[in-house]
Amino acid sequence: MGIATDIADDWHAALAALAWAVEAGADEVLLDAPVNRFDQPVAATRATVAPPTSPANAAPPVPVDAAETDAVAVARASAARATSLGALRAAVEGFDLCELKKGARNTVFADGNPAARVLVLGEAPGRDEDLEGRPFVGRAGQLLDRMFAAIGLSRTSPDAQSALYITNVLFWRPPGNRDPEPAEIAMMQPFIQRHIELADPQVIVVMGNTPLFALTGQRGIMKARGTWTTALGRPMLPMTHPAYLLRNPTAKREAWADLLALKERLKI
Ligand code: URA
Repeated sequence: MGIATDIADDWHAALAALAWAVEAGADEVLLDAPVNRFDQPVAATRATVAPPTSPANAAPPVPVDAAETDAVAVARASAARATSLGALRAAVEGFDLCELKKGARNTVFADGNPAARVLVLGEAPGRDEDLEGRPFVGRAGQLLDRMFAAIGLSRTSPDAQSALYITNVLFWRPPGNRDPEPAEIAMMQPFIQRHIELADPQVIVVMGNTPLFALTGQRGIMKARGTWTTALGRPMLPMTHPAYLLRNPTAKREAWADLLALKERLKI
């Protein structure tokens, strides 16, 4: 009796249950048997920042006494200590207070040329990015590469003039590719700001609502797109996310206009 028996006895019910699980975001098999995490004893959690993994790039360990319970304060202190992109990467890899990290295979920090004039800020890694540890490598990423290639910019260019540097608001994949929560964005904000300071791009392109919100506190990418504004003291161009363009090909016309505005700005 019950759903487990129904599924075991009925091929169609089993297939429907599987489709339902995938739809709910459970799209990967991790173990042979399910684990009920509500039955697990609650481990005493203490806010700490693990030592950076690479001594060469290491930012000094962060004292977290007063800030122990405040993940944003810990992130802020940790980001502030990083004086290079390598040190910032190590600081992010050592940051254990974001729950998303526990479910992720990789920390997805950045890709491209850090000397690039253009920094592209996306939302969060998806399945492909989580597997590969690099941002924008799935279908949306391939479209992103083609879009920027059309105005002469590439993440593989060694020349800063024609290069791209690509990162995301979140460094870990949210389960089922759900939207990032405001608390997660707030926790990542110190890292994003330091990332942009250290990469020092001439312009920032935000792709979609999440990075727009992270840098300006505003939502409404459809209204904001195509209009230059300023974020963190730098020119910023909001654009629609390539995943949106894959679902809504007619919006590519506006995206092309935005790319031309970027080309004009960079005098490519
Ligand atoms: N979408 C994003 O916003 N970032 C990625 O890295 C991949 C898809």
